[in-house]
Amino acid sequence: MICNYKGITKNIFLSLFVITIDFFLFSPVQALTFQTPIIEGQLVYGQAAPGEQINLIPASVNHTQPVDPIPVPIAPDGRFVIGIPQDSRHLILEIQVDNQRISHTFPVQKRVWREEVVNGLPSHKVTPSPREQERITAESLLMRRKRQVSDFKTFPDKWSRPVPAFKRISSTFGSRRLLNGIKTQGHSGTDYAAPIGTSVIAPASGVVTLTHPDMFYSGKTVLIDHGYGVFSSYSHLNEITVRENQHVKPGDKIGEIGMTGRATGPHLHFTVTWFDIRVDPEALFQITKE
Ligand SMILES: [Zn+2]
Repeated sequence: MICNYKGITKNIFLSLFVITIDFFLFSPVQALTFQTPIIEGQLVYGQAAPGEQINLIPASVNHTQPVDPIPVPIAPDGRFVIGIPQDSRHLILEIQVDNQRISHTFPVQKRVWREEVVNGLPSHKVTPSPREQERITAESLLMRRKRQVSDFKTFPDKWSRPVPAFKRISSTFGSRRLLNGIKTQGHSGTDYAAPIGTSVIAPASGVVTLTHPDMFYSGKTVLIDHGYGVFSSYSHLNEITVRENQHVKPGDKIGEIGMTGRATGPHLHFTVTWFDIRVDPEALFQITKE
């Protein structure tokens, strides 16, 4: 068994959670280590042995159409991160060394999700017209396209909240919402309520890959690539104070809280994704606590 723990940042994991998978005694595929538990709707951090390539075989109920294997970006020191979709029960990875490939299925821990009722939204924002639906589709394709390329080269292992002065979390990730009585998918991010004009800061280093002045749902929007497939987005901003291709460091101001787009009050709708897979931002801050 080869298991290289060097390079794992000691301070990032509250409790070091290690699963080591020993593969086949005489196979060149040796080992794969996870440093955080594999839980639905969260990022899982891991370590590959030298020379290993990993593909994620999407097998989540969230994917209604067949999806191609996703190559997992691996840092020079072997670290990687993978997003586990909400409602996944298994993580299937294909591990490749030289020409040998082995698939392995890992169990995913279940979580309990909240249910929320939201009333008082303008009805056209809940049931969009065909014309609005076209706009929504175009905007979501743009976001999806921007989330396909993750070129930033710092490993995203340290996180802080994007609104240090938030008043309260007004909606948690994954909550099933009833919007004006209509059932929706799990909430795609965390909502931080704060007065209009409150600073929104970069929670980790990255590069701004999109700024948008007016999206149907998310209003003034920013997207940041944090590297290795991890992206964050910021919705309903009142002001955007960064530009596309700008590099940001943790704590750099990127905008101000607002209520542009679909919002019933001033808040930041903050999402973290691994490529297109949405994960719980608050889970990241828990593992980053020192
Ligand atoms: Zn939200």
